[in-house]
Formats: sequence, C-alpha cells, structure tokens
Amino acid sequence: MDFTVSEKMQTVVGMIDEFVDKELIPLEPVFLRGDMATLEKEIKNKQRLVKQMELWAPNHPVEYGGMGLDLMEHALVSEALGRTPLGHYVFGCQAPDAGNAEILHLHGTPEQKARYLKPLIQGDIRSCFSMTEVELPGSNPLMMETTAVKDGDDYVINGQKWYTTASDGAEFAIVMAVTNPDAPPYLQASMIIVPTDTPGFNQVRCIPVMGETGTGYFSHGEILYQSCRVPQKNLLGPEGHGFVIAQERLGPGRIHHCMRWIGICNRAMDLMCRRAASRPIAPGRTLSTKQIVQAWIAESAAEIQAARLSVLHAAWKMEVESHKAARKEISLIKFLTAKAMMNVIDRALQVHGGLGMTDDTILAFCYRHERAARIYDGADEVHKISAAKQILKGYV
Ligand SMILES: Cc1cc2nc3c(=O)[nH]c(=O)nc-3n(C[C@H](O)[C@H](O)[C@H](O)COP(=O)(O)OP(=O)(O)OC[C@H]3O[C@@H](n4cnc5c(N)ncnc54)[C@H](O)[C@@H]3O)c2cc1C
Repeated sequence: MDFTVSEKMQTVVGMIDEFVDKELIPLEPVFLRGDMATLEKEIKNKQRLVKQMELWAPNHPVEYGGMGLDLMEHALVSEALGRTPLGHYVFGCQAPDAGNAEILHLHGTPEQKARYLKPLIQGDIRSCFSMTEVELPGSNPLMMETTAVKDGDDYVINGQKWYTTASDGAEFAIVMAVTNPDAPPYLQASMIIVPTDTPGFNQVRCIPVMGETGTGYFSHGEILYQSCRVPQKNLLGPEGHGFVIAQERLGPGRIHHCMRWIGICNRAMDLMCRRAASRPIAPGRTLSTKQIVQAWIAESAAEIQAARLSVLHAAWKMEVESHKAARKEISLIKFLTAKAMMNVIDRALQVHGGLGMTDDTILAFCYRHERAARIYDGADEVHKISAAKQILKGYV
C-alpha cells in the first residue's frame, strides 16, 4: 500500500494544524469555563477566517461551497481538527450536521436541498438527528415506538427521543419514526424533516451528561414529539427506508469520528510527552526519566499507530470497494479506536497528576466527554458481535 499523502493534502493539513494551534487552542479556556456567549461570538469570527482561507466544509461538495474532499482526504482533515473540541465546528464539518448534510445531498428533493441543505452547509443553520428513544434500546433501533401517521397531506409524529445532540438552537431535526408498521422490520421506519419551530416539537431539556448540561451546539436534547404535524413532502428518501439511509449515514460518520479520536490521541500524547519532559520528579530528574512513564508513552504511540492505520485502511476499503465490503473493518475500528483513545487520555491525565483532574488542561474534558465514544454510533459490544459474526462466517 502507498502511504504517501498528496502535496495538496500536506498543504491543507499543514494550514489546519497551524490554525488549530494559533486560533483555536487559545479559545479552549473560554470553552472550558462555559462562557458560551463569548465562545459562540469567537467561533463565528473564526468560521469567517476559515471561509476566507477556503478551508470551509472540507467534506462537502464544491457546488455547495465545500472543498469536495474524498473520504480518505477528509479523514486526514478530521484527524487534524480533532486536536481541539472546537475544530470540526469551526471548519463546518461537525456531527450531526455533516451526516445530515450527506443524506440530504443523497436523498433530498430539490426543495429540501434549497431550504435545508444549502444553509446547513454554509453554516447559517444547524440541525440534529433524532433516533434514540428513552425507553427502548438504541442498540436495537427496530424496537422503536415513535410513530408518524398520515393525516391528509401531513404526517403526525408522536414519541419521545433523547440524545438528540445539538437540538438546542437547531433549525430542523431529522426524525426516525415508524411509518409502515406492517412492513418487514427493516422497512418500517422513515426519516422525516421536522423544523424545530413546528408546534409539538417540544425540547424537554438539555440532558446533563458527565456533569455538564451544555447549551446550543454543545448539548444533547430530550425531545417530546406531541402530535407534531409536518407536510408529507418532508419525508426524506423513500418511505420505509429510514434504516437503509441510516446505514449510509453511519459508515462515513464512523470514519470521521475515529479520525477525530486519533486527533484527540495526538493531542493527549503531545501533552503527556511535554509534561513528562518538563515535570521535575527529583532534583535534576523529570518524569520522562521514569521507565513506567516511558512505557506509557511507547504503548500509547503503538496504540495510536495501530488504530490510525486501521481507520485509514477501512476508509480506503470503503472508497475503493464499498460500504458493505468494509463492514467488518468499520466495526473493528469503532471499538479499537475508542479504546486506544481512552487509554491514551487516561495515561496523559495520570502523568499530569492533580493538574490532569483540573480544567486547566483539555484532558479532563476529553476524559469525561469522550467516554461516550464506546456507546454512540453502536456500543462496543454491538460492534464486537457484528465483527465476530462476519469472521465466523468463514468457519461454518
Ligand atoms: C454523547 C452521545 C451522543 C449521542 N447522540 C445521538 C444523536 O445525535 N442522535 C441519536 O439518535 N442518538 C444519539 N445518541 C444515542 C446513542 O446512539 C445510544 O446511546 C446508543 O445507540 C446505545 O443505545 P442505548 O443508550 O439505548 O443503550 P442500550 O441499547 O440500552 O444498550 C446498553 C448497553 O448494553 C450493551 N449492549 C447493547 N446491545 C448489546 C448486545 N447485542 N449484546 C451485548 N451487549 C449489548 C452495551 O454495553 C450498551 O452500552 C448519543 C449518545 C451519546 C452518549
């Protein structure tokens, strides 16, 4: 395999690295003290700069104002941006908007694209994705209670969702609801676009997660859909194809997430090495002279390298072959990278001692926030079972 990165991508990644260091990492203290009003203003300024540098929306098509990078190229961008929790949002390629834009692009009607996709990619509005339910297992979404029932020209939606990430302040939600209860299980649900100002779209709360309630983009909503009425033309893709489209959304999304996690690993590794090399632990000796710390550094480097190459390989396979061909690889990288990330963050935090527990570095935030990586977009166990089933096919 050829691991050469093109000159274009070396330039793009170099520019992003510099921007992250100079413009975004200095903003992290504002973010960590929860001053969201100041942060949002600063983010708007930085987004303007990114647009001027023509680095906006790297993964989106050129005709919509993006850079039109392919999956492998965007994987490298996602790694560079992952070094700060502000990266993807400032560059217009953040979840869940990136995935929503992708499916609007593939399945939206011309009217839906004009009304939702264009302003979404331009960063004028935000969106959210509303699938997981409070009372039923997200790991088995076939068990879904939210319904969308036809009434005249409309759908009337009823149900309770949570973890609708970034719903606070979003312009619209893409909701998964059962439209065809008598169809085979995988053809029962549909995706429907619901503007958040529709009567019956009720945001109950931003859920407190790991000690943070959050607001705006940085939050997770619980939503009660109560006789929420939208026109049938808000159906996204064919009726009953919600799960099929969700699979399309999740494949590239997992590559983006995993490479973002590699970016987090790189940041934690860098902080760990800097601290180890500078923290005195005895007269004339720093932490980096201790073999146990050296072992953590070497183990972290090995785990990052293994995860990074596995993710790039999965992205390559998806692009060169297909989504379906890369199913096993995607499951493997999902739990492999999440584990590597948690290991590296944990070691970096440990090397920082008491400082690691404070919000004076980004590590404690990463430790709290990124634990969710083992749960969303398919819990570890679900991916392990899926990968093992595919491996075992060769033995029965
Ligand atoms: C930070 C965060 C952001 C999220 N954002 C969104 C979003 O934007 N939109 C959205 O719709 N959802 C979102 N989710 C929800 C997420 O997709 C679900 O939490 C996930 O699918 C797991 O579902 P659950 O929480 O209902 O857990 P359950 O399905 O109840 O599973 C609980 C645990 O059981 C175990 N388990 C599950 N299945 C199996 C199995 N087959 N065999 C063995 N063990 C198993 C796993 O350990 C799992 O963690 C988000 C979640 C988090 C934490």
